[in-house]
Amino acid sequence: MNRRTALKNTALFGFSMPLFLNSGFQKRAAIANSFHKFRLGKLDLLVVSDGHILFENVQPDFAPDIAADKVSKALEYDFLSTKEVDLAINILVIKNGQKTILIDSGCGYHFGKSSGWLPDNLIGAGIKPENVTDVILSHAHPDHLGGLVNKEGKPVFPKAEVHISAIEKDFWLSAHPDFSKSKVKPELAGFVTKIAQDTLKNLKLHLRFFNDGDTLLDCIRIKLAPGHTPGHTVVNVFSGEDELFHVADLVHSAPLVVAHPDWGFEGDTDFDQAITTRKKVLQELAEGRKTIFSSHLPWPGLGHVRKQDEGFDWVQTTFAVPD
Ligand SMILES: [Zn+2]
Repeated sequence: MNRRTALKNTALFGFSMPLFLNSGFQKRAAIANSFHKFRLGKLDLLVVSDGHILFENVQPDFAPDIAADKVSKALEYDFLSTKEVDLAINILVIKNGQKTILIDSGCGYHFGKSSGWLPDNLIGAGIKPENVTDVILSHAHPDHLGGLVNKEGKPVFPKAEVHISAIEKDFWLSAHPDFSKSKVKPELAGFVTKIAQDTLKNLKLHLRFFNDGDTLLDCIRIKLAPGHTPGHTVVNVFSGEDELFHVADLVHSAPLVVAHPDWGFEGDTDFDQAITTRKKVLQELAEGRKTIFSSHLPWPGLGHVRKQDEGFDWVQTTFAVPD
């Protein structure tokens, strides 16, 4: 598979690259100071943008087996384009005493100028890459771990320990990761596997492994939510009674996947398990009225879900003033 084909096919995983191939494309460049600060109990949190991912087609990446008119109707209901889906890449940063913790690292150099903004935007927020102490990976897809290692194979956050689910690490580093329950094309699976393997091998000495239920760094509880990948992780950030749930790639679109969890997403490693997990976790979050942070829902990715019809309604948190 040549690079062009590989990049085109990455759309299936949730880090589409057709935009990168379109020479006319330059929707946005990195934005100085694109971060949002807030508090959670005693923790200082911020959301930093790594850029965005444009899907130039809605199907089959989203709702692959659903009639096109139903899908268009769902998008129109939310006043959105029926031709494309533009995803944010939101990165959550936690400051806990001496610790500066990233949840995921964005795309790095892998997908062109529309992403990979994290290091510049961290500096804009007053955080030097060498001061990052920990990175928690929600999973090992390139739009989440791609920012860890630069083109020369060196760590972008040289002093950080990188925490990942033991199940996730074993899956990607196995001789033949199993994509038999996914709708993803084999050549694309190979392309993504290579980035995961190269990155994890480069970071060998920095890696630490966690399991379901573990508590990390006095402010994080690990809740595995498999389906998108085998070790896909929901990160429960807490401080005293206050908490937030970073749901990573549990959902990629509010009108399509939150509202219709059964419609599915082609980039899920186990398509059916992802649907089951998505419904279960969204139900718990809705019942508990929990604060949610999402990697790919609109900037800055903060909101809640409530039960609606056969799915859920995403209610974005809004702010009276910037920052
Ligand atoms: Zn993703």
